[in-house]
Amino acid sequence: MSDLPDSINVGGLRYTVRRSVAPLGDTISLGQCDMTMATMDVMAGLPDDVARTTLLHECLEAIKYSHQLDLTHPDLMTLEHALDALLIANPALLGLYGARQC
Ligand SMILES: [Zn+2]
Repeated sequence: MSDLPDSINVGGLRYTVRRSVAPLGDTISLGQCDMTMATMDVMAGLPDDVARTTLLHECLEAIKYSHQLDLTHPDLMTLEHALDALLIANPALLGLYGARQC
């Protein structure tokens, strides 16, 4: 199981990333982003690729919130899968960002 980061900074707000075993929300959801509590929950026990895209999705939710973007949930799902595919197909892209601390 790949390790998720302990926290993620989105728009100056540092979100605590948690692996959650309890059900998330009212509907079946693999992840949840709480902008008020600054937490991102990813369901425990997911396959690595699902945990990765779920966390990416929660980051997009946080970006949507911090920039007040008018994006639908299907828009976010499209961005989630497109960005994941982009980064998998182009690992050198991430290398451009190195391991900088923010
Ligand atoms: Zn969502």
